[in-house]
Amino acid sequence: MASVEQRTVPEPSTAEAAAADGIPVENPATGEVIAHVPDLGADAVRAMAQRGRAAQPAWEALGFEGRGRILLRMQKWLLDNSDRVIETIVSETGKTWEDAQLAEIMYGASAFGFWAKEAEGYLSDHKVKTSVVMLKGKRLIERYRPLGLIGVIGPWNYPLTNSFGDCIPALAAGNAVILKPSEVTPLTSLLLADGLRDCGLPADVLQIATGRGATGTALVDAVDMIMFTGSTATGRKVMAQAAQTLTPVSLEMGGKDPMVVLSDADVERAANHAVYYGMFNGGQTCVSVERVYVEAPVYDQFVSKVVDKTRAIRQGRSTGPGTADVGAMTFAPQVDIVERHVEDAKAKGARVLVGGHRGTAGDPDRPGNWYEPTVLVDVDHTMECMTEETFGPTLPIMRVSDDEEAIRLANDSPYGLSASVFSKDVARGESVARRLEAGSVCVNDAVINYSALELPMGGAKASGLGSRHGAGGIRKYCQVQALLVSRLHPHKEPHMFPYNARMTKALGKLIKVLYGRGKRD
Ligand code: NAD
Repeated sequence: MASVEQRTVPEPSTAEAAAADGIPVENPATGEVIAHVPDLGADAVRAMAQRGRAAQPAWEALGFEGRGRILLRMQKWLLDNSDRVIETIVSETGKTWEDAQLAEIMYGASAFGFWAKEAEGYLSDHKVKTSVVMLKGKRLIERYRPLGLIGVIGPWNYPLTNSFGDCIPALAAGNAVILKPSEVTPLTSLLLADGLRDCGLPADVLQIATGRGATGTALVDAVDMIMFTGSTATGRKVMAQAAQTLTPVSLEMGGKDPMVVLSDADVERAANHAVYYGMFNGGQTCVSVERVYVEAPVYDQFVSKVVDKTRAIRQGRSTGPGTADVGAMTFAPQVDIVERHVEDAKAKGARVLVGGHRGTAGDPDRPGNWYEPTVLVDVDHTMECMTEETFGPTLPIMRVSDDEEAIRLANDSPYGLSASVFSKDVARGESVARRLEAGSVCVNDAVINYSALELPMGGAKASGLGSRHGAGGIRKYCQVQALLVSRLHPHKEPHMFPYNARMTKALGKLIKVLYGRGKRD
């Protein structure tokens, strides 16, 4: 843990120091305070914005190759320093070594390389052909220019992947970035910013604004675009505030992801996926399996497998590779939400088959933030565990009579982040998948689509606006500019002043020739 406690935090200027109260950062697996970071106020954020804007033109001028070189160096830095980064992530989130390695280090290493190499392809000038006869011979170009200064606001569940990860395409596009990590888990962002500086990132191109919600509010007012990841409630506030300055926003928010297990599913695979993607990272993944609908013929078999697999989970503090399967919960108030959902379900008739208590099995009063891996059955949509985001290690399972009922219940949610369907009949699985109201759906898989950086990842309904990854994941950090370049042309175009009846009639005929023919019903 020494590496965490000795972490350098940004040196605030005198004005910033005056605004900084200092935020304690806890290790959720022990309850110990492991560091303090400044709580930056609006003046500090405005000063950062000024420095970021001053640094951005030179960064943009480096071009894709120059920027890519630094991002590729950072890819190597991350791999060379992976143990140190994992220790930092584990110490401030309470997650396991493996959760940090798989879903953060691997994602980061992949993303630094991907955006270093692919940014140019997504953002280079694109020639457009037009069918408009009057424009034939002119050059039409779609061009992407960086917006300037991007504000990234992140949550606590994936400090590398969901906070720092969104900075990478913004930087690759040529923007300066201010990242406001969650006040609960700011240390990983500070460490990675140090790493980027060691790799040659010019000063002020990436700055970390540590602070609470008010720091985020100040950031929304100070930048050219906001990339927000967090709860739907906060996302709504961010969008309302950004509307005042017409600042564009991209929102990645909460979910209540359903898994549908059809009667012809590979039940063993479905159960493994339900338990793993429901419980890994302590169930604190935006795209976790949050609720399961199982067709009646395989319901008993599925539940029995899920119960056995959940009972076998080793929950505890991760002190290195292989030491625990499920770690602590990162944010203390989230434990209260999980407890509330389980108690609400029990009061309305649900049965707890595994877990169902705070703490860990054998240590209900354990210091830190703990809730046991929990399986619930006899659940329905009157219960919060089936309708509200739980964001904890719980798996409520509901029996359904057929795929129509599964689809109806899966879509009975304000959220629409991700979903999964299990069936050996891939065509049947895909046809169910296409009817689910979710930004992404996996068939015979779950969650793993997130790692395909070529594929858009974003929420439908109250889960999001815009997406990360793919072309949209980097073009959103740019202004699209349409260029029309005219090379060969007369002094005057025929449609210009003065209007005269002969030309107007001729144009009328031309319009009919151009658009009046063709098949119609
Ligand atoms: P949160 O909404 O409480 O906080 C997110 C961030 O917003 C934090 O940095 C916080 O300080 C900041 N913030 C708070 N109030 C603000 C305001 N008024 N203006 C600007 N910023 C403000 O979310 P959380 O509890 O940190 O994260 C958990 C949530 O994030 C869950 O709902 C989860 O589903 C969601 N999430 C979504 C995705 C996705 O990709 N869709 C990924 C990870 C997490």
